Amino acid sequence: MQIFKVGGVVRDRLLGIPVTDVDRVVVGATTEEMLAQGFRPVGADFPVFLHPKTGEEYALARTERKSGRGYGGFTFHASPDVTLEEDLIRRDLTINAMAEDDQQNLTDPYHGQRDLEARILRHVSPAFAEDPLRVLRVARFAARYASLGFTVAPETLELMRQLSESGELQALTAERSWKEISRALIEDQPQVFIQVLRDCGALKELMPEVDALFGVPQPEVHHPEIDTGLHTLSVLEQSALHKQPLTVRWACLLHDLGKGLTPEEEWPRHIAHEHTGLKLIKAVNERFKAPKDCQELALLVGKYHTHCHRALELKASTLLELLQSFDVYRRPQRFEEFIGACEMDARGRKGLEQRSYPQADYLRGAAQAARVVAVQPLLEKGFKGPELGEALKRERLKALKAYKDKASA
Ligand code: ATP
Ligand code: MG
Repeated sequence: MQIFKVGGVVRDRLLGIPVTDVDRVVVGATTEEMLAQGFRPVGADFPVFLHPKTGEEYALARTERKSGRGYGGFTFHASPDVTLEEDLIRRDLTINAMAEDDQQNLTDPYHGQRDLEARILRHVSPAFAEDPLRVLRVARFAARYASLGFTVAPETLELMRQLSESGELQALTAERSWKEISRALIEDQPQVFIQVLRDCGALKELMPEVDALFGVPQPEVHHPEIDTGLHTLSVLEQSALHKQPLTVRWACLLHDLGKGLTPEEEWPRHIAHEHTGLKLIKAVNERFKAPKDCQELALLVGKYHTHCHRALELKASTLLELLQSFDVYRRPQRFEEFIGACEMDARGRKGLEQRSYPQADYLRGAAQAARVVAVQPLLEKGFKGPELGEALKRERLKALKAYKDKASA
């Protein structure tokens, strides 16, 4: 049997980028031989094994053929007579379809190295169209390598467009899609992921609610970039520049969905978009089965981002309601993420990226003022049950009024 490193590890070594995980392909072996050598089989779908000592992945060389809709509709053929070239041709991009042996001798039948040098993401063969997930993968690689100058080959983008139009993207499971989306959002240029999906018509299929924001105007005084879609891309870009976590980036992507529902007669204003957007945010959350923390933050940011922008003008009672809604006493981290997303929203405006955002520290201070109100004295006064809750609220309101007075003095 012959063993080769394959895929991302070869690509990233040639790019001079640190390699995170190492995939290997085994040519000329059977499952029985792998098991006899102590390899542990993983998953029932493919002939993939874990090395008994290192735990790294070794896959038997295989060919694939599409036999139905979706990812389940694949039949594969793994046997000792499948060659390295046959295994490489089923891969998505030429830069991912290179292999090397222990001496770093390169096998590159589909000219991955040439495309690497030309900074091009190009599909290997027309079989690309057999797995719609590849549309998301290409967009994700575009986001990851945008800073190196990579772009999608026009003929690959055309294939992605055909795949999107065919409706095949609807056959993707939430789990597979979310894995790509979440990985793409934590790349350095997540906005490129959305842009590429839009360019090939996939955004309309996957997240029509986000696609609908393009072409929707906002008032130029607040939003010099005008277009709500472009604004969303900028907010996402800021979220990466400021190293925000996935939860915040997801909330950034969805915060303005309500603006896509505004009747044209009302443009460029978007009265109550925070409220109208909630059902759309919920729909997108559920479509991809986003993790609970992502879902929750996206809804809260959607509902309250304008409150954050107006923080300095809010009455003490409104401030208190905001803090209560976030359960800021028990969930300080979530409130911090909310502030982060709102700050990205403010910075994601053309020409205003560097403007200070005093609302952030102001809200942090307000949360702190409410948080330090002690329960003990109220207990000592004999309050309990719902009355204790009311008394605590009154004290917090007092504290917030004092905070406001001090801040405006
Ligand atoms: P990363 O650095 O994100 O791990 P990678 O290229 O190693 O990038 P993996 O998802 O680990 O990506 O997949 C390993 C290799 O398997 C890829 O380089 C590619 O050759 C192939 N591959 C993975 N998923 C697909 C797919 N859906 N269609 C075609 N080829 C795929
Ligand atoms: Mg990998």
